[in-house]
Amino acid sequence: MNLFEQVELQYNEAKKLMNLEEDFDNILKYPKNEIIIHYPIVMDNNKIKIIKGYRVQYNNILGPYKGGIRISDDIYLDEIKSLAFWMTLKCSLQQLPFGGGKGGIKINPSNYSKGELEKIARGYANNMFNYFGEDKDIPAPDLGSNSQIMDWMIDAHQKKENTHNIGIYTGKSVECGGSEGRNQATGFGLSKCVEVWSKINKINLNKSTYIIQGFGNVGSNTAYYLNLLGLKCIGVCDHTRSLYFNEGVDILDLIKYYKEHKSLKDYTNGEDIENFFSIDCDIIVPCAKESVITEQNVNTINCKVIVEGANGPVDFKAEKILEKKNIEIIPDILANSGGVVVSYYEWLQNKRSEYWTEEKVLEKLSNKMEDIYTKCYNEMCKKHLTLRQTCYVLSIERIKVRADKKNIYLKN
Ligand code: NAD
Repeated sequence: MNLFEQVELQYNEAKKLMNLEEDFDNILKYPKNEIIIHYPIVMDNNKIKIIKGYRVQYNNILGPYKGGIRISDDIYLDEIKSLAFWMTLKCSLQQLPFGGGKGGIKINPSNYSKGELEKIARGYANNMFNYFGEDKDIPAPDLGSNSQIMDWMIDAHQKKENTHNIGIYTGKSVECGGSEGRNQATGFGLSKCVEVWSKINKINLNKSTYIIQGFGNVGSNTAYYLNLLGLKCIGVCDHTRSLYFNEGVDILDLIKYYKEHKSLKDYTNGEDIENFFSIDCDIIVPCAKESVITEQNVNTINCKVIVEGANGPVDFKAEKILEKKNIEIIPDILANSGGVVVSYYEWLQNKRSEYWTEEKVLEKLSNKMEDIYTKCYNEMCKKHLTLRQTCYVLSIERIKVRADKKNIYLKN
């Protein structure tokens, strides 16, 4: 199913719970701008290659568009649109002064040399120059991109604008004005959600097991912090392999290995397993791509909770089956929002020319995640909804209140 159809199913469900008026519904149903670019770069063999880039600026009622840039060869416009919609809700739920957007570059980054990737990143920033700005639209890394890509992009933007302003991109390296703690923020936030969930449900994490899909930025950092909470990892999978560890894996060893080798392909521990999500465990943490838990594999799942590190990993039909099985979901717009929260801290620090310690950043993030989770949980109990429905209702309400106050219907 096209990913945006999933978004519509989730949104329509929330809409019914809220009796949204048609005018506002129409505004939220469509993105404001869908930008597609094609630009040439010179490859190492001196041939010209045309690169396709996307940016969807979904909604800016609450502030400048905010969202990552995904680098992958299988992206398509409706995927970027869906991710931009979720960013809109995520920023609203976390009460940030941002709207939602998302970008993409349609290549497989592992097919390019470092020099070619630099040209691709700089080309994207140059071609998107007019759309980006610290009070207009602020990109960040996402799947396939990282702080090095952001450093090249901000440099290209600064040169074109003839400025030293660095708040236009977040997720930069600390040396280029990034925030301490940004790299690990999404994983840290996810682990905080697990901690709050365990307190609410009186679960002993020292006796709990989990499996994790995707071991990049989000997956490996989540594993690091879950390890600190005492959880045992019994399964890891990436784009090359799915591994089961009967006795648990030495997660610090795996993190070190993955940093060096960038895949599980030649990892010598663990047993290969075909249906990864069928591993019995307490917690499943999908941290790779969307729509990985569907009607096809949901019935083999046996866990207490799914914590969505990736955006949209559980599709709508699978979610309904999980509800019947009493398997909870901590939804993406809450669970993985730590990344955008620290992007906001980075943006603030850049505006004020202040630099905070990692300890301060993670302490602020920890408090924020706990506050928002608790607020959503209390509201969920009051309204007898699922956690996803509650998060949707709270974030849409916040956007609506601002839209009404601003009377955006007239201004348009
Ligand atoms: P990443 O590129 O650093 O890592 C992606 C990981 O997923 C890799 O280990 C890769 O091997 C694995 N993977 C890719 N395709 C797979 C497949 N088909 N099956 C199994 N594993 C697969 O990306 P990331 O930044 O960690 O992002 C992962 C997810 O988290 C994405 O959905 C992204 O939108 C979401 N997310 C990222 C951030 C962030 O701050 N980076 C914030 C919020 C949400």
